[in-house]
Amino acid sequence: MTTPRITWGLIGASDIAETRMIPAMRRVGHRVARLASGDAAHAARFAGRNEIPYGTGEFGLDELLDDPNIDAVYISSTNARHLAQASAAAAAGKHVLCEKPVALDLQSAHRMTAVCAAHGVVLGVNHHLPAAGTHRVVRELVRDGAIGRVLAVNVQHTSLLPERLRGWRLGDAAGSGVVMDLTCHDASVVNPLVEARALHASAIAARQHDWGPGHAEDVAVSALEYEGGVVVRLHDAFTTPYAPTRLEVYGDGGSIVADGVMTPEPDGTLVLRDARGEREVEVSDRRHTYDITLHHFASATAGEGRPVVDGRDAADALAVALAVLDSARSERTVPVEFSTIPATGSTITQPENS
Ligand code: NDP
Repeated sequence: MTTPRITWGLIGASDIAETRMIPAMRRVGHRVARLASGDAAHAARFAGRNEIPYGTGEFGLDELLDDPNIDAVYISSTNARHLAQASAAAAAGKHVLCEKPVALDLQSAHRMTAVCAAHGVVLGVNHHLPAAGTHRVVRELVRDGAIGRVLAVNVQHTSLLPERLRGWRLGDAAGSGVVMDLTCHDASVVNPLVEARALHASAIAARQHDWGPGHAEDVAVSALEYEGGVVVRLHDAFTTPYAPTRLEVYGDGGSIVADGVMTPEPDGTLVLRDARGEREVEVSDRRHTYDITLHHFASATAGEGRPVVDGRDAADALAVALAVLDSARSERTVPVEFSTIPATGSTITQPENS
């Protein structure tokens, strides 16, 4: 089946839309038809820079959702607005690709999934890392038993927050801070990798850098136990320049070290060590992570397959982040709530090059 070419409405004149998603949509042959934004002057500049048609000069959500040409919306507003915008889009019959974290609490995440299901539209969440060719190969190796029973996972997800992103992420509003920004991404990788539920989290978080106003944590180190005794360590930071990223998976029959893979760039290497020695594993799919996400989302709108990350996956990732945040702030070990949303099938592993 040919993947449909989606006509998109953008909700949110954001950095991620401009730097990542509009280019990705155009690379995969989709059309960006409209923008909705709360700030008309900013929206007009954004639409002009990105060549988004806006004939009537209207940037309201209602006008966008009334447009019958729009198949799907991409929501990249700040996190607190995701649920209301997704609900309005679903009610208008538009498929929804929502940025992460899907919501600020689990109840809202579950509600978004329920509303999209009730209106018969696809909900995908733009956790890009599970889509990466590298991550899919790691999952395949683990599922095929290449390292035996998984015992431990380490994630190093550290960099220096780019200057242009030093706004709401560092402030005091709900949804700010490194945990909601990066730890939820880590969980979107680890959950489908170990194919088990996170049980509890113990974490510390701090403000390492003097960014000016605001108190949001800019570093977090978390220890989690998953079902089956799998232990997981996550290190997330906005504060460390020149730092490599890394995913390590240790089993009772071998280990996988994936260097440079906690990034949207289609980069990184995989090394497998087992009784036969050490070797690099080839990764053939080097498309941008966002292109792969769009491909699967578009197919799902035509009833083929599922989004790489659906509402339940995103809720499970959010549950880990919320437990980490609660643990760090309360200085206790806290349980991770798990989702009651039905799964739509297992996470994509097979290379998809179409
Ligand atoms: P931005 O700060 O760039 O934009 C967020 C919102 O702020 C916009 O939607 C816009 O509001 C408003 N805004 C931005 N710039 C201006 C301006 N100059 N004047 C007036 N309003 C402005 O956010 P990000 O792109 O960093 O993040 C957006 C979402 O995407 C978040 O949910 C974040 O977690 C997620 N994200 C995901 C990534 C991924 O890899 N999947 C990577 C980066 C972010 P309005 O909606 O009214 O237009």
